[in-house]
Amino acid sequence: MKRSPIVAIATSVLALAGCVTLGLASTWRPTRGERFDDAVADGVVGTIQGTNIFDAIDYTPLGAPGSLVLPTQLVYKAEFRTRPVREKGLTLIDGDVVVTIACNLKERDGTHKLADELAWHLNEMSGRQPKVVDISAKPESGPVIVIGRDDGKARELESIIRRNGDELYIGGVGDGVSQAITYVLESLGCRYLFPGKAGKVIPKREKVELDDIALDYVPRLKVRLMKVPVTGNHKVNDGLRAYGFEPSEYSKLERAKVDRPGNRGFWQWHGVNAGKIVKTDNPTFQASVLAGHQYGGYYARFFKEHPEWFALQNTGSRQQETNSHPRLCTSNPQLREQIAKDTIRVFEANPGRQGASICMPDGGYMTYCMCDECRKLDPANSPVSRGYLYRSKEKPHSWAKHPYSYVSLTDRMLDFSNDIQRRVRAACPGKHVVQFVYSNYTQPPVKLRPDPDIVFFNVAGNYGDAKRFPALRRNIAAWLSFGNQTVWRPNCLAGLGGGNRYPVNYGRLFFNDISDFKANGVVGVSLDCCSADYSAAGFMFYMIAKAMTNPDRLDYETIAADWCRTGFGKAADEIADYMLELEKHYMQAAEGAMGVGGYMDRFDIGEFEARLDKARKLADGDFDVLARIDYLAVSLECAREAAKVRAAWKTGDWKKLGAARKVYKDRIKEIVIAHPDATRPGGCVHMLGRPATAEERDRFQQALADDDPDREKAAP
Ligand SMILES: [Zn+2]
Repeated sequence: MKRSPIVAIATSVLALAGCVTLGLASTWRPTRGERFDDAVADGVVGTIQGTNIFDAIDYTPLGAPGSLVLPTQLVYKAEFRTRPVREKGLTLIDGDVVVTIACNLKERDGTHKLADELAWHLNEMSGRQPKVVDISAKPESGPVIVIGRDDGKARELESIIRRNGDELYIGGVGDGVSQAITYVLESLGCRYLFPGKAGKVIPKREKVELDDIALDYVPRLKVRLMKVPVTGNHKVNDGLRAYGFEPSEYSKLERAKVDRPGNRGFWQWHGVNAGKIVKTDNPTFQASVLAGHQYGGYYARFFKEHPEWFALQNTGSRQQETNSHPRLCTSNPQLREQIAKDTIRVFEANPGRQGASICMPDGGYMTYCMCDECRKLDPANSPVSRGYLYRSKEKPHSWAKHPYSYVSLTDRMLDFSNDIQRRVRAACPGKHVVQFVYSNYTQPPVKLRPDPDIVFFNVAGNYGDAKRFPALRRNIAAWLSFGNQTVWRPNCLAGLGGGNRYPVNYGRLFFNDISDFKANGVVGVSLDCCSADYSAAGFMFYMIAKAMTNPDRLDYETIAADWCRTGFGKAADEIADYMLELEKHYMQAAEGAMGVGGYMDRFDIGEFEARLDKARKLADGDFDVLARIDYLAVSLECAREAAKVRAAWKTGDWKKLGAARKVYKDRIKEIVIAHPDATRPGGCVHMLGRPATAEERDRFQQALADDDPDREKAAP
């Protein structure tokens, strides 16, 4: 099925926003009075309902006004400390003395892998290889490191390090053990600055002494996730093929992202995406409360029998054009009963689960329900909300903004969610439903308070427009005031918009927001839209990871300076300036809401190259540092290629653009093959730049479709 160019663009935007791909049907274009069955699109089942007259629906919220007054400011500010200064502690390696590492080798519960990784690092440091033995063969006298598990004795994700004479104990629960190992390695001077060999810092020394460290740390964030593109996922695979990579071939290249087979990857080292490194007896909160769109199968399952369960469109019909992402009439009592039943079934089938998602599908181009019963749940004094509420007859396949005022749908979504949570509680006490704070129900409610057992994944946040930064904090402050467990799950890594191949740094925004949200009780951070373009954004990713798990509570400046010092030695100051310049450049673009195009147009690639050249001179002879500078330079090489596509776009000549895109893809492929640890195929080639007018956009969309029928597959 060939999709229309507009759908293709929308699909890319959605993919970028981390939403589900649309299963939209092709090119149906109704006009006033036209019957839906004249143009039934692929995948639509069921009968025709309603009058099919656009604007048949009254857009008046019918709910009585609410009187909730919610806080607009976060209560706490994150507090930071200085790096602890410690005495020297256990000597691990000195002359003939080499530490022994003991763990449970029989159970193979993950601690054995960490023992191996620790031993490898110590050998890299000193040239002496510690023995890894089973706990039953632990030597009588030290030095010895014992890696253990404290399930049942400690709290979820707790990390424990304690010394008793010549013995150092490293333990905890689940990923807490892994984080304790990271803490030990970082205390020894090791760092994982970005993926790949160049990103690992391992200081060389004959005598390896550990500071007298001790740790008993329960992280505030129980959920720490980063959605990186995973080869094998069909969308990611399509993106790889667009750049001429077979996924299996690319998988082999990707191995370069870990410094040594068997070691934890960059994210796992930092405690992100780390759920299964060390076995734990209890299912983790992270694994059992994941949010995700549900009810994709409801249209095929129920439309025939219960058309009234589906959202009334402004066409007057409840028929949905998408079979896999329907909008639902969430006020319908029988629908609610069905959803409660299905949710309870999830818990019955998985008794260890703590939560089950009741997040609504994205709906494709379908609008939210505008029936009387739904509108009765919309308080008349709710704030104004736009988008996804109205389908224009001229452009049924675009997200037309509502031409009239309508209100936020948060209260209606809470009415629904509270009802489901109440029914679930009656059948399965102690279990949580998981709901998004998202789309037209992002703004805080004006009437209803959420049931305290609901877990929220709050998608609020936009880092592309500085005017919107304060709104994020107001939003989080209001929602946290209810006391519900809340995971911040923004699409803020989309930055100024999609398609950027340029180096970026807005790590401070993330660091400060994550730190303050933690201080105010957010229980998780789950970030979507990760480019995994580590050369371009590795520093920012590092700052994000450090904000998520920060046992010493170090501030941004301290961690940023440490990144530059440990990674770049004599060139540290120059690299620090490079990152500050990138940050300044980003913030100016965000303050002007200039989008990716504005960022690119004002970016002087030569100036940033000159900065790296200066850093190279300062680091002369230090090959590790030079390799890291080369790693950063890869993103400037990619930027030079992207700039050419951008320039072709601006000519208005689609043939030039098509040719430039072909060259771009080939060049990016070459760069990825040369530096697979530093960058990846990606960046939406067809979104490089923003057409100024609708006419210009349509012209280009048509041109691109002619040029490349598979263009929607161009980027993951
Ligand atoms: Zn309804």
